[in-house]
Amino acid sequence: MQFENTQEFALKMDQNDSLKSYRSQFFIPQHNGKDSVYLTGNSLGLQPKSVKDKIQQELDDWAKYGVDGHFDGKNPWFHYHKFFSESAAKVVGANPKEVVVMNNLTVNLHLLMVSFYRPTKTRYKIIMEGGAFPSDQYAMESQVKFHGFSYEDAVIEVFPREGEHSLRTEDILATITEHGDSVATVMFSGVQYYTGQAFNMKAITEKAHEVGAIAGFDLAHAAGNLELQLHDWDVDFAVWCSYKYLNSGPGGVSGAFVHERHADNPDLPRFAGWWGHNESERFLMKKGFNPESGAAGWQLSNAPVLSMAAHRASLDMFDEVSMAQLNEKSKPLNAFLQFVVEDAAKSNDKLTFEIITPEERGCQLSVLTGENGKMLFDHLTKNGVIADWREPNVIRMAPVPLYNSFEDIYRFGEILKSF
Ligand SMILES: *Cc1c(COP(=O)(O)O)cnc(C)c1O
Repeated sequence: MQFENTQEFALKMDQNDSLKSYRSQFFIPQHNGKDSVYLTGNSLGLQPKSVKDKIQQELDDWAKYGVDGHFDGKNPWFHYHKFFSESAAKVVGANPKEVVVMNNLTVNLHLLMVSFYRPTKTRYKIIMEGGAFPSDQYAMESQVKFHGFSYEDAVIEVFPREGEHSLRTEDILATITEHGDSVATVMFSGVQYYTGQAFNMKAITEKAHEVGAIAGFDLAHAAGNLELQLHDWDVDFAVWCSYKYLNSGPGGVSGAFVHERHADNPDLPRFAGWWGHNESERFLMKKGFNPESGAAGWQLSNAPVLSMAAHRASLDMFDEVSMAQLNEKSKPLNAFLQFVVEDAAKSNDKLTFEIITPEERGCQLSVLTGENGKMLFDHLTKNGVIADWREPNVIRMAPVPLYNSFEDIYRFGEILKSF
């Protein structure tokens, strides 16, 4: 597509945007009486205006029914987690049975590692990307230590080559092959939080299986961003959060995926709780854990209904719009951002930066700034841009197809130029 860094061009793109009606369904933070340029949907998605009513409904039922809201409310809380399976499954490319919404992301990562990191004396290594999100690093470190291994020996991190910022798929696959039958679990993110690189999950999964290992993914930055096919890619397990691209509010619930072929395997150890117990006898308070079929059998506790209500409000939009449709906009939107950033750099020689996000990407664009990076970031903030600064010197921007406009990107470019 031929871009022009002009307001007319941006407005024309917005006019032809098939998702344009969604922006007004979100609260856009204000700056000096105008919409700010919000580019942090990868960190905390904006609030859908429908959230309040969804939470109010549950508050009303709690007021009206007390404990009987579990069965008599409009959305009976006893079944509440089930109201998400179908929508969440659609977002990640799974069968509803393979998906459950519960807990928070790092909790779910640990819970699934309990089942899917089963090291032996000889097969005990975890392969992950170098520089992963800290929570994932700590989770993997504590998992291997919990099983009596040392971090240095058991966790293999794959780093980009000298002078490069993103990982080559061939290097990831070669590392898996190299460690071969000592690999227990390959655990990657779907989209790298720092560089915005989208990993080839299908190829990583295939290679992991080839050496007899399990493949799991942290989709914190991928769910609601990329088109995923977890079931068809044969991924073993995955987790994600709902508050980034899934717009479900701070600390919002997480999602978990367990492939169908593991779903009814009673030999798979897990940490159990009553909400994962077979529903028909959950209230019989019997001894002996008998799991629900599917991912639901990994639940521990009853659903945090108030926070899940916000997630439900957001998923209503994802029910209406497919990930393919979202990507039809996010690709040109992101490409326009890159075009505008590069164009601004041509007209202002104080703008020295390098784009470190490779072509394999979703919404995010990361730039490595020069010495004046923090000053540039402060300039953006002062002028109504909400972007994200990551130490030591990266600015992350994520235009989101549901609520960002091409005009946002144009305005961002003008603010950049005025640095
Ligand atoms: C955002 C993010 C998290 C956050 O974990 P919580 O348990 O939800 O606080 C973890 N891992 C990755 C890769 C993330 O991007």
